[in-house]
Formats: sequence, C-alpha cells, structure tokens
Amino acid sequence: MTKVKALCPRCKTEMTLISEIERSNGVRHINRYYRCPACTLRLMDESYRITEDGERLLLRVIQDEKRPIIIKVG
Ligand SMILES: [Zn+2]
Repeated sequence: MTKVKALCPRCKTEMTLISEIERSNGVRHINRYYRCPACTLRLMDESYRITEDGERLLLRVIQDEKRPIIIKVG
C-alpha cells in the first residue's frame, strides 16, 4: 500500500491533515489544512463551500494552486 506524507517545508516534520467545519448563514465551510506539530506552520490544502437551497446542495471546491508541500511517497 502506498502511503503519502506531507512534509513541512520549514522543518521537514510530517504534517497532520486537519479538517474544520464552520457554519454561517446556512453556508457550510469545510477547510482542510496541513499543520506541522513541531513548528505549528499551517498550509491550506482545500476548502469546500456547501450551500443548500431547500432542494439541492451546491458544492464548491476551492483549491490552493500553490500548495508548497513536499510529498514523500513510499
Ligand atoms: Zn515544521
């Protein structure tokens, strides 16, 4: 099985992926980011914005184009 690791660009420690859910005015925001347990550096990975209009769910994915993360596979 392949394991993907995100390494902190500052201190090369393996980063933890964290998901946060916020709700405001009926809109749900899901933020996923990497956090370094050693130096507390935070790097945004993806966010989702979910809106409901009673019948449908609208999901918008926002990706950071420049995710400066070193991924180690193996
Ligand atoms: Zn770090």
